[in-house]
Amino acid sequence: MKINLNDYTWEEAKDLADLDPVILLPLGAFEQHGKHLPLKVDEFMVNKIAIESANKSLVKNVKTVVAPVIWTGYSPHHMDFAGTISIKDETLTNLIIDIVESLVKNKLERILIINGHGGNIAILKNVGQKLKYDKNIYIATSSYWDFAMKEINDWRKSELGGINHACEMETSLMLHIEENIVKKNKIEDNPLKRSPYTGVDLLLGGPVGVSASFKELSPHGVIGSPSLATKERGSQLFDVITDKISNFICDFSTWKKPLNGKNDK
Ligand SMILES: [Zn+2]
Repeated sequence: MKINLNDYTWEEAKDLADLDPVILLPLGAFEQHGKHLPLKVDEFMVNKIAIESANKSLVKNVKTVVAPVIWTGYSPHHMDFAGTISIKDETLTNLIIDIVESLVKNKLERILIINGHGGNIAILKNVGQKLKYDKNIYIATSSYWDFAMKEINDWRKSELGGINHACEMETSLMLHIEENIVKKNKIEDNPLKRSPYTGVDLLLGGPVGVSASFKELSPHGVIGSPSLATKERGSQLFDVITDKISNFICDFSTWKKPLNGKNDK
């Protein structure tokens, strides 16, 4: 079975729809990741994670296909750094809805959106609600780290504030996926120092939301402790995250329609 939807002809896609596969739709962003990581990190990484998760699901005989990655997202908080490309929240909302509706129109209905960028989270949740209440379409949405919060916490070497952006986690994962693109001599730490009420770490948000641009919080775009990143630990984490997502894909493949979480288990 082919992993990428873009390798299928329309006739093959029609046959594929009859198998009711799980469709992974990776959602990325195109934004600065400090001086040591490239702009592509979010869209590149979430696509790799989706493909490996699909591969692991196929080994377990669960039919899974990866739709083309949405390479840009909502990143206004990174716009002070060159190269970042951000789209408006309503543009992203409409883009995701149009893609989902296109898939569903031709019976590719079992859709899991896997997000790879914090700035997309609120929009993605809203999209899930709009699809349900405006169009009666159920989709599953998530961010890749959500599947492995406990494991990431066990894995980390940094204190709270060390995993946020271009951080210990993202840098380790990039070292695993494409080591030679990481500029190791440019790595600079910047563990976030803010009121704990606002949340300083990906693993522990605070109760209070305050929007701030990255320029206000970091001179070079990093929030976290990338100096603790290693390739070996990146491989380990990539494996854990894709295992966990693959486990969910297996469960999701058993959900009865409408896809509201009910199954036979
Ligand atoms: Zn990122």
